Amino acid sequence: MTLVNRFDRNRAGIAYFSMEIALRGDIPTYSGGLGVLAGDTVRSAADLNVPLVAVSLVSRKGYFKQKLRQDGEQTELPADWDPAKTAEELPTKVSVKIKGRDVLIRAYNYSVSSPKGGTVPVLLLDTDFEANPPEDRTITHYLYGGDLEYRLKQEIVLGVGGVRMLDALGFKISRYHMNEGHSALLALELLRQSQLNVDRVKSMCIFTTHTPVEAAFDKFDYPLVERVLGELVPSEIIRRYGGEDRLNMTLLALNLSDYINGVSKSYGEYSAKLFPGYKVHAITNGVHSFTWTCTHFKRLFDRYLPGWADEPSLLTRVGIIPDELILDAHREAKEDLFACIKRMTGVEMDPKVLTIGFARRATGYKRPTLIFSDTDRLRKIARRWGIQIVFGGKSHPKDETGKRMIKEVFWHIRELKDEIKMVYLEDYDLDLSKMMVAGVDVWLNTPQPPMEASGTSGMKAAHNGVLNFSVLDGWWVEGWIEGVTGWSIGPRPGEKISPEERNLLEREDLYNKLNYIICPTFYEGVDSWATMMQNSISILASYFNSHRMMRRYVTEAYL
Ligand SMILES: *Cc1c(COP(=O)(O)O)cnc(C)c1O
Repeated sequence: MTLVNRFDRNRAGIAYFSMEIALRGDIPTYSGGLGVLAGDTVRSAADLNVPLVAVSLVSRKGYFKQKLRQDGEQTELPADWDPAKTAEELPTKVSVKIKGRDVLIRAYNYSVSSPKGGTVPVLLLDTDFEANPPEDRTITHYLYGGDLEYRLKQEIVLGVGGVRMLDALGFKISRYHMNEGHSALLALELLRQSQLNVDRVKSMCIFTTHTPVEAAFDKFDYPLVERVLGELVPSEIIRRYGGEDRLNMTLLALNLSDYINGVSKSYGEYSAKLFPGYKVHAITNGVHSFTWTCTHFKRLFDRYLPGWADEPSLLTRVGIIPDELILDAHREAKEDLFACIKRMTGVEMDPKVLTIGFARRATGYKRPTLIFSDTDRLRKIARRWGIQIVFGGKSHPKDETGKRMIKEVFWHIRELKDEIKMVYLEDYDLDLSKMMVAGVDVWLNTPQPPMEASGTSGMKAAHNGVLNFSVLDGWWVEGWIEGVTGWSIGPRPGEKISPEERNLLEREDLYNKLNYIICPTFYEGVDSWATMMQNSISILASYFNSHRMMRRYVTEAYL
């Protein structure tokens, strides 16, 4: 079996489990940063020849395709895709018990291959075939759709079904890596297989946590668990490790993993407080350099820094590239984005004007409307210097706050339409993200600390010489040098201030830095701007890449 060849050299491999994974723009099996991270992890593992196999769900109807009305009201269309067209159906089938029935699972393999020769199989689990009754065929349809029962069924397929599928395919696995708690049922399946040998299971499991709020953990009431999951292992065992009152997937993963990590230093520290009694390490996220560098910069890097994609730390020497060429590459990326904006919206942006980008999952804590907290000041800055803004981002269909925020952004776009050119681009996805993080001048990020566990789009921007202007949360705490790699918004992390004071400081920084530092540098200090672009690449991109991240997982968690 060719699929497992790389695992057969007497070394067992790593199984990486993730509810979502961003493989390509036209494969809708992801919703945001968590999935992009999974995709970048797999791409780096392939480049670095790490014996890794990924397990996810096929999500045949995807997350969704976003449509936005004139007023910003979001509607969701299914994003159907046909795995048979892009992935290889494997003949092997396994089964799991769900509500007392045997549900059959098959897998599609999507191989991620590196030009370096490495390949990582990605197994996309599927229940939608004739052998299953209609109710079970829908389990692997919608990513993050449906109710709690639907979610629990999906997590059984992912965690329990995933382990069984790897066994059935002949993979020898030494480590099971859970990217977020959704896949934690895999630890129960391992417990069952090992006759409840907890130490053995813990020694095999790694848990990466991304969620800084207790309320956002997946939790299931025990009557539901008993009805849907049944007794995979005795219920007192589930309660002992998963929580007394409800099955808490984060707790289950914490209790059954020897290695636990957060995805940035600040989130690692924060989660040490959130999870007292557990040792929480920090491995800061990164992005796949080759994937997230636009063609114009790729050409430059290939010429001046050959080998950069395999060894992104070579980007530290970006200073040998003449400023004019850096500025030219960026100008071209900006043209590409503006052509795309023209196509999508009919709006013609001005290539000479400072362009700010803001795109991420539209949800409360990301605060897309912070820049509109004082529209008069924003107007004045625009009148004095000229700015334009590009927005993007989907809201989860049930996230009313997120949906309202999109409408608020639309409202402000209309309110200011005669003074500031602004667009909101529909259906933010991998491809649109690539255009945006390369084509704007400044990448704005205004999360509510400590909610941004890491954030990765700013790292993508840095690979393309786009400057970060961000609240000090997640990765930016580690990347930020004021006026050198970008600019901060609001207080330093850990400062004891009230929410009102914080908000005031954030607004002051946002408008003052824009007016007195960022715009003047852009319009009157092109040399300083070019130096900061170089710094972003040499200091940020050389470090915040998934090759560095992957090597740390290998040496600290996998070995
Ligand atoms: C990179 C990316 C994200 C994550 O960005 P954050 O800065 O972490 O919010 C979300 N969605 C898409 C489509 C992306 O490409």
